[in-house]
Amino acid sequence: NKILFNNQITARERFIDIEDRGYQFGDGIYEVIGVYDGKPFLLEEHLLRLKRSAKEVHLQLPEKIEKIKGNLEKLVQVNELVEGIIYLQISRGTAARWHEFPSPEVSPVMVAYTRAEQRMSNVEDEGAIATLTEDIRWLRCDIKTLNLLPNVLAKQKAVEQNAIEAILHRGETVTEASASNVFMVRNEEVYTHPANNFILNGITRQQVLQLCNKLGIRVKEKPFNIKEMLQAEEVFITATKLDIVPILKVDQHTIASGNPGDITKKILHEFRKLYQKQVKS
Ligand code: PLP
Repeated sequence: NKILFNNQITARERFIDIEDRGYQFGDGIYEVIGVYDGKPFLLEEHLLRLKRSAKEVHLQLPEKIEKIKGNLEKLVQVNELVEGIIYLQISRGTAARWHEFPSPEVSPVMVAYTRAEQRMSNVEDEGAIATLTEDIRWLRCDIKTLNLLPNVLAKQKAVEQNAIEAILHRGETVTEASASNVFMVRNEEVYTHPANNFILNGITRQQVLQLCNKLGIRVKEKPFNIKEMLQAEEVFITATKLDIVPILKVDQHTIASGNPGDITKKILHEFRKLYQKQVKS
């Protein structure tokens, strides 16, 4: 499998300098993009978010978005990837280790690779369990940066409890999960945390909100607390590749009847049509 290294599609064996700022400080940004039927899914949306992340951390993108888009499409083709993901990361570059931005400026280091991966359709259909963990992250969770240690620790805790995800809470407020967004259904209305600095505005989240509009399901982008979530009619999480996963239990608390809810199933059904449409086009 080939990788994209700056502007070159090249062999995977590449050295990243030990003073790459991504490696030493987590000083960089990234995206994970789904690939279905050999085509990146919602690529433009992901690249728009990348552009925003870059701006928020004052990182100059090494290339125009159009050029990055073309390179990623080429990478998928070269690797003959049918279903999987593209991982793209851009670090601020390589320089002697001082916290402040390098001066004179250095070029960012951009790397992308692909990985074959099947969707977990059985989990999407059957649902999964989650665990609750305190959200100990910084106050700019809206930026998709390489600093993922709190997310790593939360996910590890989930795995140790055989849970698919760690749902994060700040005080009593549910924010999102370690690598996905969290939704609940109450009185047949869909609730999710507003897209502010406390969550990453997921591309899947944005699609789900649009689908709800299309389906005539009412949406409230409004924070909810742990108690409200545990008493909800339905809970589900969303992320690239995970798509939409019904949460049947949170730690010891069963959500409603403990089965995937009707509204969740409806949204999932509609979401699948999105990439099936792409497969046909
Ligand atoms: N929230 C966090 C913290 C994430 O890391 C992710 C992505 O992995 C998401 C939400 C979901 O975002 P997306 O739907 O764009 O994959």
